[in-house]
Amino acid sequence: MDCIKDGIIGQIVGDALGLPVQFEPREFRDIDPVTKMTGNGAFDLPAGSWSDDSSLILATIDGLSKSLKKKGDEENLSLNDIIDYDIIMKNFSLWLNDGKFTPYGFAYDIGGATMDGIKRYDRGTEPILSGGIGERDNGNGSLMRILPIAYFIYYLSKKYHIDEEDKMTAIHNLSSLTHRHRRSQLCCGIYTLIALEFIENHEKESNLGLEELIANGIRKSKEYYSNNEEFKGQLHHFDRVFSLNIQNLPRDEIKSGGYTISSLEASIWCLLNNNSYKDTVLEAVNLGYDTDTTACIVGGLAGIYYGYGDIPNEWIDKLAKLDYIEDLVDKFSHPLIDLL
Ligand SMILES: [Mg+2]
Repeated sequence: MDCIKDGIIGQIVGDALGLPVQFEPREFRDIDPVTKMTGNGAFDLPAGSWSDDSSLILATIDGLSKSLKKKGDEENLSLNDIIDYDIIMKNFSLWLNDGKFTPYGFAYDIGGATMDGIKRYDRGTEPILSGGIGERDNGNGSLMRILPIAYFIYYLSKKYHIDEEDKMTAIHNLSSLTHRHRRSQLCCGIYTLIALEFIENHEKESNLGLEELIANGIRKSKEYYSNNEEFKGQLHHFDRVFSLNIQNLPRDEIKSGGYTISSLEASIWCLLNNNSYKDTVLEAVNLGYDTDTTACIVGGLAGIYYGYGDIPNEWIDKLAKLDYIEDLVDKFSHPLIDLL
């Protein structure tokens, strides 16, 4: 069994779980922790409603499947020849402007950098140049939707020759649609390399532990980025991640706002301090603040590691437009699995 549904549904459940209490501080959660899928709250929507995070993931998997369909049969392609960033960005624009890939036909919970990037694209900027490059453009808006590229890389490498530079460029380009700052790209790179360890562990039934998988992904990222001039100036922001000691930090030192490095650190911390999908995503939600996105980011990795069967059924069943989600996931996963 592949683990594509595990990760994508893991992300969407995390998003839906955190959405009602989004923006509320950690102190609120300490008094009144989230333990189940609830509704209302932040956007006054029914239980199981998912937000921008999931919409952009769905827009991405749809765009990646269409890219593969369009170009996948040509010979000697690189990953970046195959990925049609324009199709993906058009999907983002359809989400923002027309409410495509949403539960109720309209976009909500729209991040600032994401909105700016899509508007630049709508005005004619090239997709991979649309993301902002300012210091303040380092929100978690690309990290939350990057997981699909890990699947794409994993499966396409079975048929095409994908070298390291091609792989890392694809990750960075996908981030750049809305988040083009080197720090955002680097966060996406680390997360994707960790996700690749998780996917491989699942596919090869290696049964490695969480700590080892995460450490392997982080070590590979460090090796790549330390030898890359364009990213060197950003590396000191990742000292805590590269130290491989995040899990031992006290909860007070784990931030859970919208800054992309905070989300990456919080995800690693939640994964390494819990033993099930349910506990991991609830821990993320109960850190407070950007609850839906933190839970979405960690939910993808937890979904792959613990498997679809460990995601509470009653949470999956509550998801708005579940049939629609499953259909998009199937259309993404079938052609990839066929490459094996
Ligand atoms: Mg959201």
